[in-house]
Amino acid sequence: MKKEFKIMYCYHCKRHYRYNDPVVLDAWNSILHASCYEYLTEYPIIDKGTYGEIIEKYDFFKELR
Ligand SMILES: [Zn+2]
Repeated sequence: MKKEFKIMYCYHCKRHYRYNDPVVLDAWNSILHASCYEYLTEYPIIDKGTYGEIIEKYDFFKELR
């Protein structure tokens, strides 16, 4: 069976994530580029790392791996 690869977009800049992009995870389980988050600092952040690290760490992103 062919694995379908899903791609997530940043809701601020609308660009795709790459695995080594620095990102933050907000309290609504949305991922945002670390650089885009600078414009949205009122959002509470629960974790940060690269996109690849975050989707490996949290089970609710397992379909994106
Ligand atoms: Zn972005």
